[in-house]
Amino acid sequence: MTDTTRREVLGWLAGLGAAAGAGLLLPGQAGASTNVTALRDVTLIDSSGVRPKATIVLADNKILAVGSCDLPLPRGSTVLNLAGKFVIPGLWDMHVHGAYLDRITLPLCLANGVTGIREMFGFPQIYELRERIERGEVFGPRLIVGSTIIDGPHSPVTGALIVTTPDEGRQAVRDAKRQGADLVKVYSNLDRSSLAAIADECSKQAITFAGHCPTLVPLGDASDLGQRTFEHMYGLPLATSARETQLRQAIADLPIDPANPFGRFMKVLEFERQATLSHSRSKAAQLAKRLQRNNSALVPTMVTMRVFSSPADRFANDPRMKYAPVFYRDFWREAVKGWAPVTDQEIRQQAEFLRRRMDQVAEMHAHGVEVLAGTDAGNPYTFPGFSLHDELELLVDAGLSPKAALRAGTRGGTVKPGEAANLVVLDGDPLKDIRNTQRIHTVLTRGKVLGPAERRQMLADVEKAAQEPIATAARTCC
Ligand SMILES: [Zn+2]
Repeated sequence: MTDTTRREVLGWLAGLGAAAGAGLLLPGQAGASTNVTALRDVTLIDSSGVRPKATIVLADNKILAVGSCDLPLPRGSTVLNLAGKFVIPGLWDMHVHGAYLDRITLPLCLANGVTGIREMFGFPQIYELRERIERGEVFGPRLIVGSTIIDGPHSPVTGALIVTTPDEGRQAVRDAKRQGADLVKVYSNLDRSSLAAIADECSKQAITFAGHCPTLVPLGDASDLGQRTFEHMYGLPLATSARETQLRQAIADLPIDPANPFGRFMKVLEFERQATLSHSRSKAAQLAKRLQRNNSALVPTMVTMRVFSSPADRFANDPRMKYAPVFYRDFWREAVKGWAPVTDQEIRQQAEFLRRRMDQVAEMHAHGVEVLAGTDAGNPYTFPGFSLHDELELLVDAGLSPKAALRAGTRGGTVKPGEAANLVVLDGDPLKDIRNTQRIHTVLTRGKVLGPAERRQMLADVEKAAQEPIATAARTCC
């Protein structure tokens, strides 16, 4: 690769008529050298539309210009001739666990074109990892990291921070902010007054909150409080059921068994299943208006919900198991048993429950509610990086167009001068068939070009790292 001086690149930008913003596009010393890379003759697909026969010019980790096929290039540019290929913005997985498994999660994401992740169970080690990635000491995707899980009493999550009063809720928000969380993660068992206090404190501390719709708070109310995202489709069936009042009463009447918090969680889910049998389209339309007004989004994590709705062994022989750390294998096999349907009737019921929830997500999307792609990777048979592509497929299966699924998978990303050069080059058109996002040719991120050989090597290294024992307990939740 030839180095081009910054002065030469600035001159070239000026020639393109981009002089005004050139200094911003290319910070640094005038004499310093820059690696300029051009992606020639690609079809660019982003949230602003489709641009055939495009050239995308990058300097290190920034996009400098997007032009036509014959765009003149600065001297010394490395040209990648990519005729017939498609380029999309880097993908985002908005619900990941296990970023701390840095030799597994991070390369699996990057090799699969996932250049940004939202880690939904944070702790100081991951906040530190986020900084090390940004400083360039560790090669990884951009991390947005949640707080520790904040839950009410009798939490099914080991290691959750338990909040029982509004004051404790406020303290939890201040602690999360001080420790370095990017958002506050709320969970199923928070009561309404604690959630309201958390919401108010988040607004004071200028930090967002996101996570599960608490069982005792209707989804529209949590959205009105400012909850930014709702994970796993929890709370959606109840909030759109014609029998909502009756089902909420039944949930309120559930006996508390301190010895078995997961049992209660599953009983609530059974009421959610029943709620899907009395779905009200007019309630859904009303709810969609509130979510839109509040800028709340759904992160349905269908790929993990599909595992939990299926017989325990359905995904156990996934060929990607070789990329899962050894300690996950036993953990996954056991964890899935608590969810899996067993009898023929249960299997049918759970498949139908999943189908109805997917329909509800598509319905909310059709009403204009934002949907974001997330996997819940780290949970059984859900793999960092790979499973994001499965989620895109499921979003299309649910009823979103491939274009809408791509938007969900890129957070509405665009490829424009000045933006970070996180790009995925594909061998096939994802708008024709969303499964073409799996036909990755090259990933560009943080100034690196991960071609087929580099990506193969990264995956081989992960496979090796996955065999090594890791002295840590799994930290996931769902
Ligand atoms: Zn999760």
